[in-house]
Amino acid sequence: MTKILVVEDEAKIARFVELELTHEGYEVDKVDNGRDAVDLALSNDYDLILLDILLPQLNGMEVLRRIRKEKDVPVILLTARDAVMDKVAGLDAGADDYITKPFAIEELLARIRVALKRREAAATVAASEAPAAPSAQPAHHILAAKGVQLDVERHEVLVEGEPVDLTNREFEVLKALLENLNIVMSRERLAQLACGYDFVGETNIIDVYIRHLRSKIDDRYGIKLISTVRGVGYVIREG
Ligand code: CA
Repeated sequence: MTKILVVEDEAKIARFVELELTHEGYEVDKVDNGRDAVDLALSNDYDLILLDILLPQLNGMEVLRRIRKEKDVPVILLTARDAVMDKVAGLDAGADDYITKPFAIEELLARIRVALKRREAAATVAASEAPAAPSAQPAHHILAAKGVQLDVERHEVLVEGEPVDLTNREFEVLKALLENLNIVMSRERLAQLACGYDFVGETNIIDVYIRHLRSKIDDRYGIKLISTVRGVGYVIREG
């Protein structure tokens, strides 16, 4: 049976989610504070965790960090409507997805199915790739434009030969743009490529990543790497 931990301090929401998930055939534990959430998450093998961000004792972001240190369990964050920075920080801290409160239960169930399926698919791939030839030298796949080099295998970005420190999601957004040079990418497409799921709305998180990339690369090195195409999206133009 698929086991889900619901971490939510608003009793009504927690109860409602518990009832719906139980009805869907999931086994549910629920907890109303961050400290117990960490204890339970680390001492049980949950298949998925629904995690509210504003929690007593320990906030959801800190709970996520502590869980991520030890476990790879899928985590879906429950966030407030306008908390774009929470969403970005949460995805960077290793959340698989987020859903904005108030949410329709159908949407939550759909997100849960996607997260569970994705984790299952990743586990299958990892298992089939397990006996990797240790002597095989990985080919370095390097994407480059305008003095920026992105090494896919090393997960490294160099600008004018200097390493630039990017978060995972910033890296994925930059990679998507470099892989599609001269092609204008919509926020939706970038979100799909960078976040790896069927993105529903709230593509303004892409604007946040672009802003971070511009401050780390364009502003710092005085280059114009990423162009905005008003009403459409973003592009790196070359040649
Ligand atoms: Ca809360």
